[in-house]
Amino acid sequence: MVKTKTLGQPMFIGGRWVHSDDVVHVYDPQDNTLIDTVPAASKQQALKALELGETGARVAERMPTHERISVLSKAARYIEENFEEYALVIARESSKTIREARKEVGRCIETLKLSAEEARRLQGETIQFDQTASGEGRTGYFYRFPVGLIVAITPFNDPLNLVAHKVGPAIAGGNAIIVKPALTTPLSALKLAEAFEAAGLPENVLTVITGRASEIGETLTTHPAVRMVTFTGGLETGQRIARQCGLKKLSMELGSNSPVIVLKDALLDDAVEACVSGAFWAAGQNCLGVQRIFVEESVYSQFVDELVARTGKMQLGDKLREGTDMGPLILEQEACRVEEWVSEAVSCGATVKIGGTRRGNYYEPTILTDVPIRCRIAKDEVFGPVVSVFPVANLDEAIALANDVDYGLQAGVFTENIEKAFQAVHRLKVGGVLINDSTDYRLDAMPFGGVKGSGIGREGVKFALQEMTEPKVVCFKLGLRH
Ligand code: NAP
Repeated sequence: MVKTKTLGQPMFIGGRWVHSDDVVHVYDPQDNTLIDTVPAASKQQALKALELGETGARVAERMPTHERISVLSKAARYIEENFEEYALVIARESSKTIREARKEVGRCIETLKLSAEEARRLQGETIQFDQTASGEGRTGYFYRFPVGLIVAITPFNDPLNLVAHKVGPAIAGGNAIIVKPALTTPLSALKLAEAFEAAGLPENVLTVITGRASEIGETLTTHPAVRMVTFTGGLETGQRIARQCGLKKLSMELGSNSPVIVLKDALLDDAVEACVSGAFWAAGQNCLGVQRIFVEESVYSQFVDELVARTGKMQLGDKLREGTDMGPLILEQEACRVEEWVSEAVSCGATVKIGGTRRGNYYEPTILTDVPIRCRIAKDEVFGPVVSVFPVANLDEAIALANDVDYGLQAGVFTENIEKAFQAVHRLKVGGVLINDSTDYRLDAMPFGGVKGSGIGREGVKFALQEMTEPKVVCFKLGLRH
């Protein structure tokens, strides 16, 4: 049953629900109605959260593995039991439709279950010290220990599962974690804290502190007690955080303008279907979203016609209506920015094949052709429902254009030719290549992350767990002589 509540959601500092003198208003982006308020944490509250987090790190490292597994499993179960409530929180505060929100809740449950499993599998290795003469008479191993206090900064577009991708592995690895969710979508992260509270996570191991990065971002990321900053968000913010946070472990999951290559032997229907879903999922506000499609010349016109026809069937509208395919952008200023980028491309010679109109926060699913590659929409991350299609002579040209950007998260390739698929796999400069799929595919257990401006390090529970722990070598000098 959906609970009704009054406005004034507190934040979760060290295991207690607390308010602040100042608040941030959380609006539903489709009609700008006020959903709730959350505290705008002060710098003093951020410092208090850090102090409690230091205590929490000592608690977390002493939590036996079976307790970590139990808490993570119980949190997953709590979300399962309250599935629809979680989906509604996402669908109201973010741009996602209710169907997209349900998918995210399902993935969050999976992420937490995986974290419980990976806690069990956190392993070291024995070391053959006698592989050199100087190591003779020694024996030993390494094991992995927690990094300590982690600060996680998260974006608006997957407000629950991307937080779970940081909290789950942090707890599995025996760390304490402080999460600062995006200003626009803090409620889903607070709902995640509710699940961990219900699961019996010890106090001070988890904090979800809400508020403005301009007020608390630097305090959280620069504090010497923080041993790792794990960030998901835009390239510019990532660069700023990397500059400000000093000597700490860094994990950066940044943006992209992902390419899909469609060769002439591809199954075009499959390619069209996957590209429409990949370009317009979450109104294009998706780090994996398809932004650039390179199609071999002989099938280019047919592909564009079919892509336009399929896009024309998309239903925009009320996010809570079951039939809606696409919701609004997170803020009207974001929709205006997308409109401006499309206008710039059109003024340089691009053609709008479908879409291209804004109504408030909504921007129609839009397909562009004839886009000059110097335009922002061809080079930067649009983070909106706009996809550009380019004809290419062959795979070589497609790969060269796909790689000719500052990003490299994932790439998709549609072909029935195994030789060409392998060529693409080896030559695309990205963190993942999807053969016969769009870029918008992620298994929560797979290593996920990018190269170049798309980031540093990998998430995906097992891989985040490696980043959130350090190897400690143990060597016994036994003095044994054979
Ligand atoms: P954003 O503007 O970069 O903000 C992300 C987070 O950083 C927010 O919580 C923001 O807080 C905080 N922040 C901003 N400045 C900060 C500072 N100086 N110190 C500490 N924190 C700071 O990103 P967004 O618009 O929310 O999200 C969209 C971006 O995320 C896109 O580029 C997308 O590709 C990327 N993304 C990447 C992945 C991935 O896994 N690779 C996944 C999802 C999204 P405030 O909200 O308070 O400003």
